[in-house]
Amino acid sequence: MSGNSDPAREGAHVLIDTYGRVATDLRVSLTDRCNLRCTYCMPEEGLQWLAKPDLLTDDEIVRLIGMAVTTLGITEVRFTGGEPLLRPGLVGIVERVAALEPRPQMSLTTNGIGLKRTATALKAAGLNRVNVSLDTLRPDVFKTLTRRDRHHDVLEGLEAAREAGLTPVKVNSVLMPGLNDDEAPDLLAWAVEHDYELRFIEQMPLDAQHGWKRDGMVTAGDILTSLRTRFDLSPEGQDERGSAPAERWLVDGGPHRVGVIASVTRPFCSACDRTRLTADGQVRTCLFAREETDLRAALRSGAPDEEIARLWRLAMWGKKAGAGLDDPSFVQPDRPMSAIGG
Ligand code: SAM
Ligand code: SF4
Repeated sequence: MSGNSDPAREGAHVLIDTYGRVATDLRVSLTDRCNLRCTYCMPEEGLQWLAKPDLLTDDEIVRLIGMAVTTLGITEVRFTGGEPLLRPGLVGIVERVAALEPRPQMSLTTNGIGLKRTATALKAAGLNRVNVSLDTLRPDVFKTLTRRDRHHDVLEGLEAAREAGLTPVKVNSVLMPGLNDDEAPDLLAWAVEHDYELRFIEQMPLDAQHGWKRDGMVTAGDILTSLRTRFDLSPEGQDERGSAPAERWLVDGGPHRVGVIASVTRPFCSACDRTRLTADGQVRTCLFAREETDLRAALRSGAPDEEIARLWRLAMWGKKAGAGLDDPSFVQPDRPMSAIGG
């Protein structure tokens, strides 16, 4: 198919690719910095952070999201990072995105540190809900996994989110062999008790240290087997999984649910509806993509909205069929998860 002149793409007010997938979910990374050092994500010493002038400004972020929502069919915006709560202008950005017409759904993926302080302001600004990452109920294991002694802050952040009405509060957990892989049933019992919706995420090859090993990872199958030692799990709407990456299960007949995101062992690429914007203004079609499209350069050279939208559509048109994790030629992307925006 010849890229540039395809009429469907040129005329479309949507981000469609050659496989017919339409992106409606925009993940925006607000910073690559973080106050934790999760072993599956970053090395102990941190990373070479992006220089401040390379980061999109608040105005640039709001302009790009505005374009995405008003002319490119984006209906859902998720802020992530790095740790998005470290972005000083976060509340203001949320407020300005909430004022867009049509107003997108907005959520935030965070490690929860600092949420106690900001949850009420974020809710008032228009944020709909949060996903808080927490892998363990044991403070000592938390310290080993994240290399920081902040377990208590995350628990407080979670409570603050629920009290502020950023609901349903979702909790993301990654299980690591030999560290917290025995905790799945405890985490689920705790989530049910506190009315959090738990989702396990398979560990992906996106760590900066390139330490991921397929035969060492905890699979969705392992997680379900472990959960079933204590809970009855019945599939919920698996046929309607659509683009939602989590396969969901009713816990002991419901109403509580648990999700498992099997990005490695059961990838959901054929139904993917995501597009990504990094903190330095690069569009990525996939977490595992090796190419990026530079919208920041276009913005800063004075390009009009139509030109930037055209570049974004063109980038998405080239989205690959799948992440290629099973392909023997798979090569991990140069940027780690924290720099892409998880
Ligand atoms: N700092 C925030 C947080 O931790 O929620 C947002 C960014 S973080 C990169 C987003 C999500 O990616 C978190 O839930 C984290 O557990 C997950 N994550 C990071 N590295 C991962 C990896 N190698 N495999 C699977 N999930 C990972
Ligand atoms: Fe930070 Fe999130 Fe990466 Fe952990 S997973 S180091 S909290 S960016």
